[in-house]
Formats: sequence, structure tokens, C-alpha cells
Amino acid sequence: MQLLDGVLVSAHIKEQIKQEVQDWQANGGKKPHLAAILVGNNPASEAYVGSKVKHCEELGFDSTLLRFDSDISEDFLISEVERLNNDETIDGILVQLPLPAHISGDSVINAISPGKDVDGFHPISLGRMLLGQPTFLPATPYGIMLMLEYYKIDTTGMHCVIIGRSNIVGTPMTILMSRASNPGNATVTMCHSKTRNLREITRSADIIIAAIGRPKYVTADMVKPGAIIIDVGINRIDDSTRKSGSRLVGDVDFDNVAPLCSYITPVPKGVGLMTICGLMKNTLQAAKQAKELIG
Ligand code: NAD
Repeated sequence: MQLLDGVLVSAHIKEQIKQEVQDWQANGGKKPHLAAILVGNNPASEAYVGSKVKHCEELGFDSTLLRFDSDISEDFLISEVERLNNDETIDGILVQLPLPAHISGDSVINAISPGKDVDGFHPISLGRMLLGQPTFLPATPYGIMLMLEYYKIDTTGMHCVIIGRSNIVGTPMTILMSRASNPGNATVTMCHSKTRNLREITRSADIIIAAIGRPKYVTADMVKPGAIIIDVGINRIDDSTRKSGSRLVGDVDFDNVAPLCSYITPVPKGVGLMTICGLMKNTLQAAKQAKELIG
């Protein structure tokens, strides 16, 4: 079994991004600038946004964090997004999800200018992805593709089973893995909460991508020996041995699945770090495109 090491791969990609930013600036480009919007104080969202802002600093990007109380109105939030759309100093906009129940995430995402949609969630970005046109790929699927590419894993002809059909992970992942590219060129089966005989399907998988949100849901009896396992899940479970009283686990029962498979991503230090790389690559791309658009 080989670990697909998010620390190693993300360090490599971040070095490349840093170098690219320096070259870009040396040629008269300005620092890429990411604006992040955080509504409320959900601890997980705080941690994710904090990490994104920290990565901006590390890679030589500018960042602006806009924080709003959870009782902000949808109209006001959309007007803030529009303000950022019109601000030429901002290259990328991300709205940390989930939003409070009274705000439509779709409406807010739709308000982001597609040229600044560095999370790749806008319908235009997803439509372009579907058609194989240049666009911002959703950050997590993008990060997973970068991970497979780094390890030179040839997925051509493999049976890839994706568990989860969210718009941000499962659904775009099915498109990318079935594309005529490598990684890609896989025969993809998408499974979800209404799938029958999940175990039978996953047992025929050469590669399983789990994005379910249920701790240790993929167990050893669901995995064919030698399969590749990509664990997207981030779940907090109680752990009295930890000072914090809890720890993070994925959607895969790592301890029992790892000995069986050829490659596996750990949680933490796996896909999560790759997601940040996807976001940062998109933001750099947005900065370069903005320059081209302005002339
Ligand atoms: P989601 O929470 O929107 O939906 C979960 C999906 O799992 C649904 O499509 C549902 O059909 C499917 N599902 C639920 N129960 C199932 C079952 N019993 N059998 C088969 N399928 C089932 O999905 P999401 O937003 O993609 O998040 C999934 C997990 O990935 C969460 O733990 C989330 O925290 C994590 N996540 C991690 C990253 C990262 O960077 N590592 C990024 C995004 C999401």
C-alpha cells in the first residue's frame, strides 16, 4: 500500500505556484488577490477560511476576508459579492459554504462573476467543465486530479466508483474521471444515498472516491484488493484520548482498508490539502486572465 500524501504533493504544487507568482510579478503582473466571504461563526468554516487566508500569505497572494453576522440578509450578501465583482483589485471570490438557512447558496454563487469564480461552483464554470472548455474546476475534484497526476496513476479503462453526488465534489468528479484525458478515461459509476447494493458495486471498483460525509462508511468488505482509495470525507468523531476530545476521520475505515489497497489518501493530510492547491491555482489563473482581459 502506498499513501497518497497530501503534505508531500501540496508542498510540491505550492512551490510551483510560488515560483509562478514570482515570475508573474517579475514580468509586471500584480499579486493575485483572493476575497473570502465568511458568514456566521461555524467553527469548521472558520478553520477552512483561516487556512485559505494563511495559504494566500504563504504563496505571495493578497487576501481580504469579509466577515458577516449570520443574520445578514441575502440581498446584502449579494450586493457585497457584486461590489467585489466590480473591484478590479480582486481576482477571485469565494463564499464559504454552508450559508445560514435563510440565504440561498445558489443565488449567492450565481451572483459571482464567472471570471472570479475560483471555487468553480458557478453554473457557467460547471457548464464549461462539462463541455471540456477552459474554466475554473471545482477545487476538490481539481485537487484530486492533481494528486492522481502527481503519482502518475494511469486510470485509463479503470472502473471508478464515486460515492456522493454533491455539486461540489461527487458530480464534477464523475465528469472529470470519465473525460478523455489521463487521469480520466475511466468507466464511472456514481453512487448515492438511494443506490442499491452499494457493496457489490464498490467491490468491482478499481478506484473508489468517497464523498459521503459519514465516518468510516467504506469498510474493508466493500473494497477489492488492490483498489485505489480517495477519501474526501471530513468527519469529526469523539475521541477521549485526545486533549480536544475529538478527531477527524474520513469516509473510509482507513485502518482496515489501507492494508488491502494499492493507494489510499489519509484524513487529515490527504484531499483537504489538495483542495487548497486547486483553489490557489484557480486564483492565480484568475489573476492572469484579468490582466489579459484588461489588456
Ligand atoms: P454532501 O454532504 O452534500 O452529500 C453527501 C452525499 O453522500 C450525497 O450526495 C448523498 O447521496 C451521499 N450519501 C449519503 N449517504 C449515503 C449512503 N448511505 N450511501 C451512499 N451515498 C450516500 O456531500 P459533499 O459536500 O460532497 O461532502 C461529502 C464529505 O466530503 C463531507 O464529509 C465533507 O465534509 C467532505 N468534503 C471534504 C472536502 C475536502 O477538501 N477534503 C471538500 C468538500 C467536502
